[in-house]
Amino acid sequence: MPEPILEVRGLHKHYPLTRGILFKKQVGAVRAVDGVDFELARGETLGIVGESGCGKSTVAKMLVNLERPTAGEIRYKGEDITRLSGKALKAVRRNIQMVFQDPYTSLNPRMTVGDIIGEAYDIHPEVAPKGDRRRRVQDLLDVVGLNPEYINRYPHQFSGGQRQRIGIARGLALRPEIIVADEPVSALDVSVQAQVINLMARLQDEFDLSYIFIAHDLSVVRHISNRVAVMYLGRIVETGRDEEIYDHPTHPYTQALLSAVPVPDPEAREHRRRIILAGDVPSPTNIPSGCRFRTRCWKAQDRCAHETPVLAVPAVPRSFTGLAAHPSACLFAAEENAPTNPPETRLNDPLARP
Ligand code: ADP
Ligand code: MG
Repeated sequence: MPEPILEVRGLHKHYPLTRGILFKKQVGAVRAVDGVDFELARGETLGIVGESGCGKSTVAKMLVNLERPTAGEIRYKGEDITRLSGKALKAVRRNIQMVFQDPYTSLNPRMTVGDIIGEAYDIHPEVAPKGDRRRRVQDLLDVVGLNPEYINRYPHQFSGGQRQRIGIARGLALRPEIIVADEPVSALDVSVQAQVINLMARLQDEFDLSYIFIAHDLSVVRHISNRVAVMYLGRIVETGRDEEIYDHPTHPYTQALLSAVPVPDPEAREHRRRIILAGDVPSPTNIPSGCRFRTRCWKAQDRCAHETPVLAVPAVPRSFTGLAAHPSACLFAAEENAPTNPPETRLNDPLARP
């Protein structure tokens, strides 16, 4: 495998939890990201999926240097960018850009579309000399499917989908190599989501981009990802190629998430079983011992409280049994343990929600 364009090792972000107003005292930590490893190959799309609060945005912010990691490395073309500063950092930042979740709040309402998209050229004038900016911004509007004549309009004059196209144009302005898209379609109507995903897929080919595509729902990333990483409480619990994750999930959390994905085929829908997880996600200030998923897991045994499963290919590869072998942080990942009888399942109940 060629060297990945991005490689993340042991990434942590812990926020101090303080008490008191005048005399702040640290009483604990929010372990928002708690040991994350992954790599991204050039031209690839890695989907990162997990429920709200599991640390996805915090990972994204560290990748684009909006947050500084508590520990860990982020290697861009082999170089740890968490240690860079000044010019070197600026050069790298240009190549890793972010598309934000909410196109309603991430665009300054008092700036014109032209100024929003072209703002990055103030920091990187070498990319677009002053006299060339207007034309460049108009090209970008065209590339994302907006009328270049809209350059002087304001964000409120656009629909949600159009605003996200503006956000994408802004992300492309510096011709980055990597785009980190943090739930880019979550705030959009379902009917518009596919258009924006298709646009991103087309831009990926056109501009040779590598994507980190974040979503809280496995069905959204399915259309665009090559590989998927499933996050739970600040860690990746399972990762693999699309078909490994969607067809042979080995982590109970992934199995539960998948059971909630809509199935178009009526016959398959008839036989599907929705897994309702017990309880709520624990607080990242108080992560369970051993396997952090055990408090909601129907497969949990005593040993799950004492042994911490690592994200690794199971020791007895499932390939022996004809199933895909890929990293999964479950002590029972190697076992033939399809979700046979999770305690709280309902057959084909459209009202049951996890
Ligand atoms: P996601 O994007 O998956 O919904 P986030 O990365 O936004 O999750 O948040 C992960 C956890 O970290 C949450 O519990 C959140 O409340 C907490 N968190 C995020 N930012 C901060 C911060 N600046 N200070 C303290 N806690 C934070
Ligand atoms: Mg988020």
